Amino acid sequence: MKLTESTWPEAEASGASVAVLPVGSTEQHGPHAVLGTDVFTAGAVAEAGIEHADVGCVLGPTIPVGIAAEHREFPGTLWVSGNTFRAYVRETCESLASHGWDRVVLVNGHGGNVAALRELCGKFTRSGAGYAVPFTWFDAVDTDDIAGIEMGHGGPVETSLLEHLDERYVRADEFDRAAAGAATQWGEWQSGVNLAYDSSEFTDSGVVGDPREGSAETGKKLLTAAAESLGDLLETVADREY
Ligand SMILES: [Zn+2]
Repeated sequence: MKLTESTWPEAEASGASVAVLPVGSTEQHGPHAVLGTDVFTAGAVAEAGIEHADVGCVLGPTIPVGIAAEHREFPGTLWVSGNTFRAYVRETCESLASHGWDRVVLVNGHGGNVAALRELCGKFTRSGAGYAVPFTWFDAVDTDDIAGIEMGHGGPVETSLLEHLDERYVRADEFDRAAAGAATQWGEWQSGVNLAYDSSEFTDSGVVGDPREGSAETGKKLLTAAAESLGDLLETVADREY
């Protein structure tokens, strides 16, 4: 059940065991992929995962802005502080729990959100408000095994999923520019330390990886794998004692 498309009596009657809250980011993903990439991917994985789960779920709205200051040099990128993000997402979880949906799975589409989500879910759980756990879709699938590709940023993994979801999210005529200015790995490393704070320090196009290695067909496989993994998680969370 989608919360935003339901009325309050429908919400009251949902009988859902688990609340699913997608968490995205509005940030640059290279010249070829839209700023809402992490919003669209997190939302799509959340919806597909619910379909794979054998438990009733309520789907919350996608959180649109996350921790993304590392992309601030690229136009259109939005971000909030870690404190604001943790408080906002945690309080959103608390409001879900107040309606009885006290088991919450956050479906994340952005690497910069990972640590903060883990922390706020732990606080939410330890406070006694309910049980929450974050799921980051690209960490839950073996992209190398599925298609011989790695995550990167705006690289073949995200670009493939976008192409599968809606071709309007991708500018294929910018692929060469994206690849020409791309980095091969995230960060600028010395002695085990990432010296860079902003992505612009190590990637000219904002991309890590080569989006030309992706395809809509690969995106479909990635979505299926992520949905199966999330479906399993939702069933486990519905049953887990806490
Ligand atoms: Zn992304």
